Amino acid sequence: MTAKKTILIIEDETFIVLGLRDALEFEGFHVVSAARGREGINLARQENPDAIILDLMLPDLNGYQVCEELRRWNSFVPILMLTARSQEIDKIRGLNAGADDYMTKPFSVGELIARLRAIFRRTARVSDATHDRFSIGSAEVDLTAHAVLRDGARHDLSFYEVELLRLLREKIGQPVARDEILSRVWGLEATSTNRTVDNCIVKLRRKIEAQPDRPSHILTVYGYGYKLVP
Ligand code: CA
Repeated sequence: MTAKKTILIIEDETFIVLGLRDALEFEGFHVVSAARGREGINLARQENPDAIILDLMLPDLNGYQVCEELRRWNSFVPILMLTARSQEIDKIRGLNAGADDYMTKPFSVGELIARLRAIFRRTARVSDATHDRFSIGSAEVDLTAHAVLRDGARHDLSFYEVELLRLLREKIGQPVARDEILSRVWGLEATSTNRTVDNCIVKLRRKIEAQPDRPSHILTVYGYGYKLVP
């Protein structure tokens, strides 16, 4: 039994959101939505959705800006873009904003769901075959290979460093308590303490941060723990 996939809808037209929400929930997806671009970007970080349906015309940012911002945060999440006119699809392709698929309004909800399922089939095949990679600032992290590439240099990651990064990425942008890190990464190992976590963070910063003593991605949340900012 696989967990429900979460779909994030970023669209300000209420009737489209309601229609999509009903249809997607009926198909067994979990749906979250935002009516503005900024709110959508924040919600993406919080919810870590499996796919994003993004409208081109939003009240604050345009869809291209939102798409680029989402790509900076996560290079892999599938993005399906909605546009009002078919000419805009050419523009999206031309701009290479990072969308995986495009639909022109008015669209059939059935077709949108079919395309979403096609994207999931493609990404499932790709993620089986390739490595689990993501970027943090100028560093490219490859969890599968236990390595970080930054400025042309390769740094190996220990098992604990990989698991710690995996946990921080899962909660990206949110503070993670030292206690939670200890129990999730080190489990019941008797010798691990808060100091163990701090030492591991120091090592990760040396590999990932441009200025390890002034980190801008793996941040300390004083008196609590750490958080990852991509
Ligand atoms: Ca709109």
